[in-house]
Amino acid sequence: MFTSLSDRLTATFKNLRGKGRLSESDVNATIRDIRMALLDADVALPVVKEFTRGIRERALGAEVSQALNPGQQVVKIVNDELIRVLGGETRQLTFAKKPPTVIMLAGLQGSGKTTFAGKLGKLLKDQGHYPLLVAADLQRPNAVTQLEVVADRAGVLSFAPERGNVGGHDAVTESGEGTRSFGDPVAVARAGVGQATLRGYDIVIIDTAGRLAVDENLMEQARDIRDAVQPDEVLFVIDAMIGQAAVDTAHAFQDGVDFTGVVLSKLDGDARGGAALSVASVTGRPIMYASVGEQVKDIEVFHPDRMASRILD
Ligand code: GDP
Repeated sequence: MFTSLSDRLTATFKNLRGKGRLSESDVNATIRDIRMALLDADVALPVVKEFTRGIRERALGAEVSQALNPGQQVVKIVNDELIRVLGGETRQLTFAKKPPTVIMLAGLQGSGKTTFAGKLGKLLKDQGHYPLLVAADLQRPNAVTQLEVVADRAGVLSFAPERGNVGGHDAVTESGEGTRSFGDPVAVARAGVGQATLRGYDIVIIDTAGRLAVDENLMEQARDIRDAVQPDEVLFVIDAMIGQAAVDTAHAFQDGVDFTGVVLSKLDGDARGGAALSVASVTGRPIMYASVGEQVKDIEVFHPDRMASRILD
């Protein structure tokens, strides 16, 4: 991930090394190289434009640091702009004043939602929380079982609609409320939050159904779940490998259900990085986590500044 972009930017900066002063044509040539590198990395055009505009303004502006030579200054400016495009500050989860904190996941099928539910569950459990995973993806026959498996691996509990109980390690057999909800994802989500409240789980992570392409039924279902459980966070999970399609997909989910944060999944893959660099910028929503593998431990809190350094390393 980002290897090619990183190599290209490093090569561009090398050309500036040793220059005493940057002329306007040096800056223009550099910006042209950066623009090509970003486009080749699948970054969306509006983001590339905004990015290069920011660099040009600052590079040609009066900003002169005594401590840095001109080449270093350009690297610093690009670094700052990358951080900005990636969302600026690291954004932490918002916890509900009165538990449980409800976190709903949304995204296309195969984007990595279910896997991420387990990862986030484990991360939060390791921080001392008591998360409950709720399987409100009733679209795919295997989704509920998959969530149970993931929860088990993460060492957290899951709420499974067909049994109407809390399952996994230390399963607490519970009948009643959940049993009525079979087949209805909204009712499952609501019952899951009810179970969490009843049993003292302080975090509820709701996995929802995805489709292979954005469709209105999916959005309506996601909206219904959102309206029923009033989540503290809606996290949009997006596969970093989808490249240019990232922007349209993100807009569709923003319009359809809206979200408070982004999870970039499959960042361990050989994607060129365009989705990562476009989504926060075009939606104005922060990237909060990166999913970097298939195991439950493969999750990172997303820090824009560290990601920028990684790209410019
Ligand atoms: P969902 O349909 O959105 O719930 O997606 P899943 O969680 O089922 O993930 C779809 C596929 O992607 C599965 O084979 C996962 O193992 C895989 N996957 C999920 N997250 C990652 C990741 O961060 N890296 C890699 N390499 N694979 C992932």
